[in-house]
Amino acid sequence: MNIILLGPPGAGKGTQAQRLVERHGMRQLSTGDMLRAAVKAGTPVGLQAKAVMERGELVSDAIVSALIGEELDQMGPQAGAIFDGYPRTAAQAESLDEILAVRGRKLDHVIELDVDEDALVERITGRFTCANCGKGYHDTFEQPREPGVCDKCGSREFKRRPDDNAETVRTRMAEYRAKTAPILPIYEARGIVSRVNGMAELDGVTAAIERIISG
Ligand code: ADP
Ligand code: ADP
Ligand code: ZN
Repeated sequence: MNIILLGPPGAGKGTQAQRLVERHGMRQLSTGDMLRAAVKAGTPVGLQAKAVMERGELVSDAIVSALIGEELDQMGPQAGAIFDGYPRTAAQAESLDEILAVRGRKLDHVIELDVDEDALVERITGRFTCANCGKGYHDTFEQPREPGVCDKCGSREFKRRPDDNAETVRTRMAEYRAKTAPILPIYEARGIVSRVNGMAELDGVTAAIERIISG
């Protein structure tokens, strides 16, 4: 199974992808995570991407599509893929078709997380993750069960993203509206888009996604 989670920054793509990974052993392919790893490692890709990401703009299509291809090649052919934060432009959507086709994969579902833009700033400015295992949290909506301790791995170190601030979020939303939302009709024409209310509580969103992928 190959699915795309589509939605603006803070819609819940990463959170829901992590849940699918745990329940179904699928793999999460997050270009944002790959780019942050490249920035941290100081690779040529990272050096190119860093300032672009800090501004909240989009990294080049060629870079992210290459990252996705490499990551797919490291997975077993049977493992399901959840594309999180990719594709984000029409050119990336075209590349993905090609990337999947040459690997004998096909897209099963595009799941759009439908959210109120007004809620996104709060979601993003309250977001943090475990520095050790990457589990996502929120200051208000998803706190660790024991304060200061990761539910999943017990680590006491957490981190926040430098681009998760109110100003950058506005640019990221504008990028989404201008370049990413317009790719939906491509998938609608294929009859593979399902819409989920991303404003529902976390478990409700997960249940709605489960119904789509099991139906
Ligand atoms: P979000 O939480 O906003 O969905 P991501 O972690 O997916 O954020 O992306 C963070 C940043 O990384 C983006 O603002 C952009 O600069 C870059 N990025 C991630 N994925 C892509 C992509 N598919 N195409 C271009 N840029 C990307
Ligand atoms: P994305 O990957 O789409 O940028 P995330 O999954 O990182 O978004 O979610 C952004 C923040 O909002 C996280 O801190 C997460 O805990 C929180 N969040 C995600 N989904 C919900 C939801 N349905 N209700 C409340 N908070 C949510
Ligand atoms: Zn952890």
